[in-house]
Amino acid sequence: APFPIFLSGAVQRGLGRGGKDLGCPTANLPDESITPMSSVCKPGVYFGYAQVYGLSDEEGKVHPMVMSLGWNPFYKNERLTAEIHIMHNFKADFYGQDMQAVVLGYIRPELDYTSREALVEDINTDKRVALRSLSREAYKKFGVDPNPSDDT
Ligand code: ADP
Ligand code: MG
Repeated sequence: APFPIFLSGAVQRGLGRGGKDLGCPTANLPDESITPMSSVCKPGVYFGYAQVYGLSDEEGKVHPMVMSLGWNPFYKNERLTAEIHIMHNFKADFYGQDMQAVVLGYIRPELDYTSREALVEDINTDKRVALRSLSREAYKKFGVDPNPSDDT
């Protein structure tokens, strides 16, 4: 497996579809920043850690995340986009802020859902799987701020 994969970029505005009202906002990485992932990974749901820079109460904090690597309807499904749901309660949106992520493993393929309930249920399962996996000793080091002194 190609993991860990490191990704970073300023959080982009997406199509605003679904994320927040499913209780699962996803911070979108800029297209040009996802090549390290899209060149070696298939679409699907992944887990890892993420952090957001430039928020005063978030300095140096690293949170578990689940990421969807999926085909983007905006580009007629010809391009992959990476969207990250961070398992943390943020006080406000953080569009435009730099986000850094380390992707550590694969959870499942992209699926089509017939109901909203089924989708929400799967997202909750993904979060549990992610937390369970991240609790393994070998992943601990990635949950530590890689740039503790870099508090610009
Ligand atoms: P969009 O289509 O613009 O990505 P979403 O409904 O997916 O809209 O919401 C994503 C935005 O929500 C992120 O860009 C970020 O600013 C904000 N947000 C707040 N909390 C979180 C979180 N825990 N994980 C990811 N994004 C979050
Ligand atoms: Mg989103």
